[in-house]
Amino acid sequence: MVLVWHRADLRLHDHPALLEALARGPAVGLVVLDPHNLRTSPRRRAWFLENVRALRKAYRARGGALWVLEGLPWEKVPEAARRLRAKAVYALRSYTPYGRYRDGRVQEALPVPLHLLPAPHLIPPDLPRAYRVYTPFARRFQGVEAPLPAPEALPREEEEGEVPGAQSDVPLPEPGEEAARGRLRAFLEAKLASYAEERDRLDGEGGSRLSPYFALGVLSLREAAFRALAQGGEGARKWVSELLWRDFSYHLLHRFPWMAERPLDRRYEAFPWREDEEAFQAWYRGQTGVPLVDAAMRELRATGFLSNRARMVAAQFAVKYLLLPWRRCEEAFRHLLLDGDRAVNLQGWQWAGGLGVDAAPYFRVFNPVLQGEKHDPERRWLRRWAPEYPSYAPKDPVVDLEEARRRYLELARGLVGQATLPPEEAG
Ligand code: FAD
Repeated sequence: MVLVWHRADLRLHDHPALLEALARGPAVGLVVLDPHNLRTSPRRRAWFLENVRALRKAYRARGGALWVLEGLPWEKVPEAARRLRAKAVYALRSYTPYGRYRDGRVQEALPVPLHLLPAPHLIPPDLPRAYRVYTPFARRFQGVEAPLPAPEALPREEEEGEVPGAQSDVPLPEPGEEAARGRLRAFLEAKLASYAEERDRLDGEGGSRLSPYFALGVLSLREAAFRALAQGGEGARKWVSELLWRDFSYHLLHRFPWMAERPLDRRYEAFPWREDEEAFQAWYRGQTGVPLVDAAMRELRATGFLSNRARMVAAQFAVKYLLLPWRRCEEAFRHLLLDGDRAVNLQGWQWAGGLGVDAAPYFRVFNPVLQGEKHDPERRWLRRWAPEYPSYAPKDPVVDLEEARRRYLELARGLVGQATLPPEEAG
């Protein structure tokens, strides 16, 4: 008997560790409900649990069994191995700081080997050379191999543990890999060809809305990229470049784990953030008087999703216009997102906040009025989420946009001078 321990890979397709385990003998799946991951917002907890439930169904549909145990991984994985008399445990390698710590502790506590196999990334996040800038990182992409099939049948074993029920405060997408793969097919068929032109829409309808599935590994990046590239065209190229941003985020956090606490561009450590509770609440609740920002934060709170363009503007507004402490905003934002993902959200915030990920110098400051007019020209999205605004012009805003922009530029210039980013450095 061998164990396959699923973490952020709640799927059966394109799963090298599952296939390797099955080649060694009968295998049982295992998910540990780790308090480290479950201590989050009700929506993200529910999304995770619903996908665990869907994975159990997928195991059952193939005749197999998924164990679900709640507790610390370094206690529960050895417990499952002991009870099943497993000869080994197989899993996909994790690149986050917590993932590496957890796996180290499990390895120490396990009386049998823990085999960590490379996960199917487009570019392995643990490249020996550290990249701080996306473009040279993305140049390492060499194309993608075909995804692995899911096993047709799994060995019959007893199940153990229950998946607890959970109440979400927002409607959830359909969980599970069947739903994810169906959404991928529908996106490739209907939207991939026009993706390059439509991806910036504020209503998010130009994109795939697959991020909540990618965040839990319900769908593999390799499968998504492979199918898109097989279809070809400019849309596919652009979409795969966005998938590569996901691997870039993991690369950054892997090489610069301190970016969870500090700006990647260390010169911003001295930035005078404003601990202004009123401004924070206005931003968080979508009451800033700036239509795009308010619509964005209200949509995010009501649905757990937001287009990339709206994320960029809402995040940048918090950091550059309101000068709010970026870490608090990053965390609050992450817990509102169904796709909330530490590596990707940190990268997004450090990009939008000009803290070291954006290769452009600090003076990229979006104007939320022009951004709204450009990316929602008929104001349909605005009417849906902030109907009291007749246009993208601010109404009694918490800050004067022009004044705030100048204040930020002056502060940033004082810190970094006219220089652009520091050159790439080894992590
Ligand atoms: P598509 O346009 O269909 O793109 C396909 C996939 O590529 C996405 O599902 C995602 O996995 C990946 N991707 C797209 N854009 C990016 C990007 N800029 N960076 C990294 N990966 C990307 N994405 C998350 O998954 N989790 C987060 O917590 C998160 N936080 C963000 C915070 C900020 C401030 C910003 C600016 C962006 C953040 N993003 C995050 C990235 C991006 O906004 C979302 O992945 C995207 O909007 C999801 O929509 P989609 O699935 O329709 O994307």
